[in-house]
Amino acid sequence: MKVAIKIRACSQTGFTLVELVIVGALIALLAAIAIPNYLQSRSAAQKSACINNLRQIDAAIQQWAIEQRMPSDATVDSTDIAPYLKRLVICPAGGTTFADSYSISTVSTAPACQRLPLTHVLPASSVDAARSQAQTPPLPGQTRRSSTNRRHLDRLRQSRRVNWARVS
Ligand SMILES: [Zn+2]
Repeated sequence: MKVAIKIRACSQTGFTLVELVIVGALIALLAAIAIPNYLQSRSAAQKSACINNLRQIDAAIQQWAIEQRMPSDATVDSTDIAPYLKRLVICPAGGTTFADSYSISTVSTAPACQRLPLTHVLPASSVDAARSQAQTPPLPGQTRRSSTNRRHLDRLRQSRRVNWARVS
């Protein structure tokens, strides 16, 4: 009888310090695993949304150039392409307006992100595709080599190098 009373009195005191420390350590461990993953996935989502915006801006520039019959070195402004963009495009990594998110210069220059210009970059292959779709005639001095063409040339060069190695 005495023992039972003693146990009940003991269990009513709540958690011991060791239990609290263990629970706290587990929560800290889970947070240490989850937070970097969360930040990484958030920045990846922002990057893909921004690149999608860049693609839309590039398409708008090409459409404007075709409809207004502009040469590839013509300067383009955000007001020129505004009618061709369905909605306001801003960089999800802290952009508030078009002007502080993206920079555009000429028809032949790909639009660039101003918030994170090193990671939010339009892939070269999609730029080439947009340019060939737009069919803007290149200026006499300009020659554009598509990335697939370049890749093919690299492969040719590599195969030649292999053959030379075999001969010698
Ligand atoms: Zn961006």
